[in-house]
Amino acid sequence: MSALREFIEQHPRLAVLSGAGVSTSAGIPDYRDERGEWKRARPVEFQPFMTNPGIRQRYWSRSTVGWPFVARAQPSTAHLALAQLETLGFVRLLITQNVDGLHQAAGSRNVIDLHGRLDTVRCMQCGHTLPRAGLQQTLLANNPTWADIEGSIAPDGDVDIENRDYSGFVVPECPHCAGILKPDVVFFGEPVPRERVERAFEAVAGSDALLVVGSSLMVYSGFRFAEAAAAADKPIAAVNLGRTRADDLFALKINAPCDEVLSALLATIGNIRTGAS
Ligand SMILES: [Zn+2]
Repeated sequence: MSALREFIEQHPRLAVLSGAGVSTSAGIPDYRDERGEWKRARPVEFQPFMTNPGIRQRYWSRSTVGWPFVARAQPSTAHLALAQLETLGFVRLLITQNVDGLHQAAGSRNVIDLHGRLDTVRCMQCGHTLPRAGLQQTLLANNPTWADIEGSIAPDGDVDIENRDYSGFVVPECPHCAGILKPDVVFFGEPVPRERVERAFEAVAGSDALLVVGSSLMVYSGFRFAEAAAAADKPIAAVNLGRTRADDLFALKINAPCDEVLSALLATIGNIRTGAS
């Protein structure tokens, strides 16, 4: 991947924007993947979640089944390569659209979780946060018959879940104020917190170039950073399998799996000398 290496040599202070493509090989399916039940469902929307107890029962029952898959996921080659690129001084900031925390698990330190984190749960009334792992115990204690569904989820267990009656599912409340608990991720129809967006824009403005990894940029909350980089005449390189919404904006596009491209890049990067710190 000498073209990408050249790009990084010429623009050694990168802002990186990552998407679902870096996590698929780690076992976290993206929205369009048919294998993972818990993202196969139509993504839950913010207003219905907040106003309809049945939607919350549906969400938390499916999340109870899906969580162990997320909790078990290990960083992919791409996650590890991006962490190494940061250690080598090439990444100023990594903006991720993923909510799985795998960049941090791989060792990346300067990360903006644009859409939040699945491993944290927040009370929408008092703001109290608690770890999702701990809530799993409460979910299973409240709903013991949901404990053994895990084994049937993959590869074809989706239908069982679809047909399962969740109307009796007991959804935990905030332990402090009995408020509504919501995973600390940005749902569809919910704005990304302003402070997060501003930090990400600042990082793009302060970098030499933008590197997009594993995102088709179909969602505007990610696409706008490519737009901003282009408007500021910062070159954009992208590693993504398939078309993206920003193909016209790229100085370099590598249409290949990000694990493969980034590990090949790292294999040759030892020779790159930069002034980046
Ligand atoms: Zn509360």
